[in-house]
Amino acid sequence: MNEMILKFPARSENEIFARNAVAAFVLPLNPSLTELSDVKTAVSEAVTNSIVHGYRGGEGWVTLICRTEGARLEVEVIDEGRGIEDVERALEPFFTTLPDEERSGMGFTIMQTFMSDFSVQSTKGAGTKVKMCKEFAAGALHAG
Ligand code: ATP
Ligand code: MG
Repeated sequence: MNEMILKFPARSENEIFARNAVAAFVLPLNPSLTELSDVKTAVSEAVTNSIVHGYRGGEGWVTLICRTEGARLEVEVIDEGRGIEDVERALEPFFTTLPDEERSGMGFTIMQTFMSDFSVQSTKGAGTKVKMCKEFAAGALHAG
């Protein structure tokens, strides 16, 4: 088992930092380029959501937790922002509460497509936690 916890301010430049930090963390698991790209895209969508929706451009912290066990990665992206009114509805493809900002409402759909065991916990006014996993095919050859 390996684990890391990152906490950073909800600023757009930290989305790039977050997805590359996760990519670096999973390298010992020998991911394929496709798997790596899937993980980076999913993390990027979740972190962007915390910044754009959770904090709406205001101040706040995003916590990123990664755990690996064998060939499996588990990622949590947590904010203490506005929370989601209706999670079931938010998960529907093309649903967005910010249509004016050219959001397509596909972030959650992308996360679910590229990752497994996807779940969202959210409390209105308290924050949101997205949890998702990825099983790497190569299988922890150098993970030790
Ligand atoms: P896109 O991701 O395509 O740019 P989007 O962000 O609106 O558009 P999703 O990522 O699927 O689409 O999110 C759907 C909706 O869920 C958002 O419009 C927002 O209302 C809500 N939401 C998602 N993440 C959060 C969050 N961390 N905090 C508060 N609301 C969220
Ligand atoms: Mg989104």
